[in-house]
Amino acid sequence: MSALEARLLARIAADGPISVAAYMAECLLDPEHGYYATRDPLGRAGDFTTAPEISQMFGELLGLALGQTWLEQGRPAPFTLAELGPGRGTLMADALRALRAVPGCLDAARGHLVEASPALRARQRDALEGHAVSWHDTVDALPDAPLFLVANEFFDALPIRQFQREGDLWRERRVGARDEGLAMGLAGPAPQPALAGRLADTADGDLVEIRPAAPAIAAAIGRRIQTFGGAALILDYGGWGGSGDTLQAVRGHSYADPLQAPGEADLTAHVDFAELARATPSARSRLTPQGVFLERLGITARAQTLARGLSGAALESHVTAHRRLTHPDEMGTLFQCLAFHPEETPPPPGVDP
Ligand code: SAH
Repeated sequence: MSALEARLLARIAADGPISVAAYMAECLLDPEHGYYATRDPLGRAGDFTTAPEISQMFGELLGLALGQTWLEQGRPAPFTLAELGPGRGTLMADALRALRAVPGCLDAARGHLVEASPALRARQRDALEGHAVSWHDTVDALPDAPLFLVANEFFDALPIRQFQREGDLWRERRVGARDEGLAMGLAGPAPQPALAGRLADTADGDLVEIRPAAPAIAAAIGRRIQTFGGAALILDYGGWGGSGDTLQAVRGHSYADPLQAPGEADLTAHVDFAELARATPSARSRLTPQGVFLERLGITARAQTLARGLSGAALESHVTAHRRLTHPDEMGTLFQCLAFHPEETPPPPGVDP
């Protein structure tokens, strides 16, 4: 039994079962044993890979989409170029390289990264050597200034709570103990004012998820964008509303039991983009599939340019990467993009207004 599992079992024995959110928070960010806090889980050798790790084209195109929006908004200077949960810093490094082509942009940009993991902050420092960037624990620390922001696979890692409907009441799904191991259970039925809106689109027995930290983060981003200008590109896997248990654990590029080996597997859940859209005081785009978004930003032309310098296995892997990012059977429709922008200005290129 791992140290974290023993500690969780002791806590449950003392205080009773804990919410799925409390479980996720401990597993991901416990300073001593947490999954993100203690390691770099990304890339082929890690547990999972992400779009910026698949191809440089992803960060380049997202960077240029923000650069284009910055031009259209009259080149505000200085402005905040921010990323939430930057992982290895690959996306930001690729975006900064691409933004060299936008005259004046990098001189006006101030890099700000929101990252909870000390291990990943160290990776980001290496990837972004030579660039002046600062790190923050939360979005509230971002400056009051025009904000151009990207978040890829950040919201899916934020803890969720799960509730199962019983009549007009809700039973919270909780992590407890059974046979000396961790086990899922249900709390007694109770009213949940936060879920009042979900009685209309669910039936008895349905499971719904909420992400308690997400609305405040979306509001903090949207307030800066509405007040000072800017745009946010939020990409993740998920959809609009929806129901069902989407909690998943991934370890060594395979699905695992979320209660097995706490702290050793990545835990995520689908992002409900409607929850983010409701919370922002800014305007927002419609949800746009990642494949469509990247095609509109010109990924095919960029892929062809890069392909000219490649041959053999490198060319093959480049072609595979393009397909992985965009094809409907791969990440093209599973991942979606939502953009925030000021009421007075059009959304960034590539998204459906
Ligand atoms: N965006 C990167 C990494 C995705 S993994 C990529 O696409 O490759 C999720 C990232 O969010 C990691 O950097 C993780 O450490 C960070 N993270 C998770 N929860 C966080 C929180 N509550 N606050 C800040 N960062 C968090």
